[in-house]
Amino acid sequence: MGFVSLGCPKALVDSERIITRLRAEGYELSASYEDADAVVVNTCGFLDSAKEESLAAIGEALRENGRVIVTGCLGIEQERIRAAHPQVLAITGPHQYEAVVAEVHKALPRPHDPFLDLVPPQGIRLTPRHYAYVKISEGCNNKCSFCIIPNLRGRLASRPLGDVMREAERLVAAGVQELLVISQDTSAYGLDLGYAKSAWRGEERETRFLALAEALGSLGVWVRLHYVYPYPHVDQVLPLMEDGRVLPYLDIPFQHASPSILKAMCRPAHGEKTLERIARWREICPELAIRSTFIVGFPGETEEDFAELLAWLSEAKLARVGCFKYEDVAGAAANALTGQVPAEVKAERHDRLMRHQQAISAELLASRVGKTIEVMVDRIDDEGVAARSHWDAPEIDGNVYLDGNAGLVLGDRLEVLVEDADEYDLYARPAGAGPKPRKPGRAAKAPLAPSH
Ligand code: SF4
Repeated sequence: MGFVSLGCPKALVDSERIITRLRAEGYELSASYEDADAVVVNTCGFLDSAKEESLAAIGEALRENGRVIVTGCLGIEQERIRAAHPQVLAITGPHQYEAVVAEVHKALPRPHDPFLDLVPPQGIRLTPRHYAYVKISEGCNNKCSFCIIPNLRGRLASRPLGDVMREAERLVAAGVQELLVISQDTSAYGLDLGYAKSAWRGEERETRFLALAEALGSLGVWVRLHYVYPYPHVDQVLPLMEDGRVLPYLDIPFQHASPSILKAMCRPAHGEKTLERIARWREICPELAIRSTFIVGFPGETEEDFAELLAWLSEAKLARVGCFKYEDVAGAAANALTGQVPAEVKAERHDRLMRHQQAISAELLASRVGKTIEVMVDRIDDEGVAARSHWDAPEIDGNVYLDGNAGLVLGDRLEVLVEDADEYDLYARPAGAGPKPRKPGRAAKAPLAPSH
């Protein structure tokens, strides 16, 4: 079986679940098109450019293999897929695990394997062995005007805290050293369940953002929170960051800073005074790093709105920033807004924002030079070791580069002395007595590359 996984970490977790199920049934995973009897393509349908990329990936799989099953977010646009690629074997939609597995059964009869329980208890992961994404909920109750994810994935559906924690424990027992919490809206966790209690380690705990952060923070590994919105109750997690139980890191997709644009975007928490909230968070946890994404060129964005965003960035001093040029997404409410921004203005604002943030990032990183910090080893090759600090998530943020590999293995955590910095990365050398003892997993081996 071949597998191509596109899109965000949430789609990656869907891929992991499908692959886990197929491996549990005895299917072998193939790393090349030629060796596969059929290929599943898990698509992304968030932006039109992502849809094009998904259609191209389906086309490639058809050319190289010929037997293709499509699943994921683009799957709800069956007609569009069929128009471009009439020969696909089947199309299923987002998180329809049963349906996609049923289609695989039709395409490739289920192999007989007497050793079905050889699949490891933590399931099959597409990430390196030392970190893993943990998806705590599906869907979203918000109605951001540029987004069709609630249409694709439905309303918020949280997993009970006990379920999430048992998965987290299995991962840690298998050697995972960093848990990355993902969802569409992590701060809303449990709202749909009325924060119902759920049992874990013999205790009833609420299915709630703070209770989950506390429970994860007791496992002895790094815990990183993604897709959080700046609601007042998020303040409660800052003390856990300050005392080291949860990483001092928040991934908050602010998207803009101008109140009128945020209102037109219908963003969650758009009425919050975010600069004041960030200042309060930093009083509790001075080391807090915030990463965010922004959209420039949203319909109606004036030069004043954009200048307000740059001024906000100067004050907010975010550690990491991603920026996207607005584009219409088929089915999104924002398509009907007037005041489309010309493409060249979008491009110019994108470049200005990135240059503006680069200077802020360079200043923040320069302030780390001469300090001793904890890092986790992420990659080892002939050129040395790429590690990450508390302030950097894998794939999307920066690195801490170390000279030599000094017997390190992936997932090791050690103290390093920062010697240099540029706009995105730090350069350091080991300080102290080498890697810290792992709690409680075992040593990681070479990473398993994502399938696409
Ligand atoms: S919070 Fe907004 S952007 Fe994010 S998934 Fe929900 S509707 Fe879409």
